[in-house]
Amino acid sequence: TPIPDYLTQVLDECGGDDGEVADYIAELAQADPDRLAIAVATLDGVVATAGDADVAFSIQSISKPFTYALAIADQGLDAVVEKIDVEPSGDAFNEISLERGSGRPRNPMINAGAIAAHALVAGPGSDERFERVRSFYSRLAGRELDVDEAVFESELGTADRNMAIAYMLRTVGILEGAPPDVVRGYTRQCAVSVTVRDLARMAAVLAGQGRAPDGEQLLEPQVARQVLSVMATCGMYDAAGDWLTTVGIPAKSGVAGGLIGVLPGQVGIAVFSPRLDRHGNSARGVRVFERLSRDMGLHLMEVS
Ligand code: GLN
Repeated sequence: TPIPDYLTQVLDECGGDDGEVADYIAELAQADPDRLAIAVATLDGVVATAGDADVAFSIQSISKPFTYALAIADQGLDAVVEKIDVEPSGDAFNEISLERGSGRPRNPMINAGAIAAHALVAGPGSDERFERVRSFYSRLAGRELDVDEAVFESELGTADRNMAIAYMLRTVGILEGAPPDVVRGYTRQCAVSVTVRDLARMAAVLAGQGRAPDGEQLLEPQVARQVLSVMATCGMYDAAGDWLTTVGIPAKSGVAGGLIGVLPGQVGIAVFSPRLDRHGNSARGVRVFERLSRDMGLHLMEVS
C-alpha cells in the first residue's frame, strides 16, 4: 500500500472518543476534539500525511525536548545537568518535583525541569531568549513558526502553578532569572503554533542526529543523543514505562493533543488528537503509535 493510504487506514482504525480535551487552559477547551492527523518525515525532508494535517495547534510540552537541546547547545551538557537531572520521576507533568539536597528538577520533560531549561537558553534578556527559542524551532520545522497569542494569554492568566514552581526553583538556586519573566517565556514557548507536518520535521532532525534535511547541522549529534535518551525515559510522564514497553521509541506529548516519536536514523512521526488520557497524553495518539510500532516493527528493543 502507498504510505498515505496506509496512514489513512491507521487513523480510521484507531478511532474512539475516549479521553477529555485539556481544560485547565481555557483556550484549549475550545479545540475540536475530533481532529485527527498524522505526519511521517524522513531524514531527507519528505513528509507523508493523513487526516487533518494542516490544522494548527499549540506545541505545549513537545517544546520541552527542543528547548532542552538549545540550553545544552548554549551552556554545555555539564552545566545543564548540574541544574536539571535526567531521572524519570514517574510523576505527572506539573508535579513540583525537585531532588532532595540539590534542588534539581528530576528531568527536563516535566514542567519544573522545562522551566529551568528555558531559563538556561542564552539571551541578554527574556525577550531575546524567547526569540532564540522561536527561531530555533522554526529552523527545525523548516518554516517560520509563531505564537498563538490567544493560547498564550489564556495560559498565562492561570499559570499560578508554574509560577509557584519557578519561585521554588529560585529559592533552591536553580533559577537565576525573575520567575515571572521565565514563566512568561516558558508559556510563550508552549503556545508556539504547529501542525503535525512541522512536528514530524522537527522530530526527524532528532532522528537524523541533529542534521536538517538541507544538510545543516542544527544540533551536535551528542546533544540529539542526550535529548532522545531523556525522551525515551521521561517523555510520557507517568506513562513512560508503559510507552517504552509497548511502543518502544523516544517520544514526547503535549496537552493540546500533539505527540511525537523518533525512530533514530529513520523517521520522525507526529500525531494530533486533542482528547487526552489520564496521564495527559493524546488517547488516540497513543493508539496510533502502538499500531504503527506493531505494523512497522519500530520497537528499539526488537531486532527485526
Ligand atoms: N504549557 C503546559 C503547562 O505548563 C504544558 C503542559 C503539557 O503539555 N503537558 O502546563
